[in-house]
Amino acid sequence: MGKHNLKRRFIQLFCAALYNANLEGFKERTIYKGDGKGVCVPGLHCYSCPGAVGACPIGSLQNAISSKSPGMLFYVLGSLLLFGVFLGRMVCGYLCPFGLLQELLHKIPSPKLKKSRVTKALSKVKYVVLAGLVILLPLVLSIKNGVSVPSFCKYLCPVGTMEGGLSFAVGGGSFAEQTGVLFGVKLGILAVIVIGAVFIYRIFCRFLCPLGALYALFNRYSLFGVVTDQTVCTACGKCRAVCKEDIHLPGDHECIACGDCIRHCPVNAIRRKNPFVKRKDDKK
Ligand code: SF4
Ligand code: SF4
Repeated sequence: MGKHNLKRRFIQLFCAALYNANLEGFKERTIYKGDGKGVCVPGLHCYSCPGAVGACPIGSLQNAISSKSPGMLFYVLGSLLLFGVFLGRMVCGYLCPFGLLQELLHKIPSPKLKKSRVTKALSKVKYVVLAGLVILLPLVLSIKNGVSVPSFCKYLCPVGTMEGGLSFAVGGGSFAEQTGVLFGVKLGILAVIVIGAVFIYRIFCRFLCPLGALYALFNRYSLFGVVTDQTVCTACGKCRAVCKEDIHLPGDHECIACGDCIRHCPVNAIRRKNPFVKRKDDKK
């Protein structure tokens, strides 16, 4: 592992530890409900995880939409805007514990699925998840039935199943609370994603994660991340061959700013963005 990757891995591990700083919660099988829970962390991390000291931005967004509270909605959207404007999908590459877990699972020796037109098409599904399960369904259900249903958390989120459900169950909590058809289905989804991550690089992030979809909207304009100087790029495709994400060019909406491609560009067209050194090509 190169020096750069070691640094990234260290940040990922540090971040996972920081998100889960409530160690008491694992021991006592309780959920921290202090002031920190009013603050969104940048990455996907279940509010109900016993270790969680902050709130999940996607869970908070669904609750804000359902509650129809303008104050809460502005607060959550403001937090997401801040993370997006500063970091874009660099959050995915550096600050998401579930991304880290999938990267580690992918290191298990096995045949790996190569990128293709199919994976590129599947990478669009996360935008449907964002629009459908995170925004539309909670909004429609709250207007029509007056109920708050965080649909992504309830029907899909593997992070919630693992951190909120399993960590209580494995820790000896009341498994009866965690049973039922829906929990069974969610366990199945979690199993598919965990096993799938061994064969498919970051399967959940690339195809299903609504938070990645949201940050992708900011990626080209974020202050930090990676950018390609298209006046220098010769379209040789070496970066695309090295990259494990479904990118067209480094710095586009699928790039998680890991930096692996930078040293492979024969004409040094790829670089890290530095907001303190303004260059003409930053927004290309
Ligand atoms: S490796 Fe460099 S020159 Fe080749 S396509 Fe990527 S950015 Fe362009
Ligand atoms: S384009 Fe480069 S920096 Fe972006 S995810 Fe791919 S390898 Fe990492």
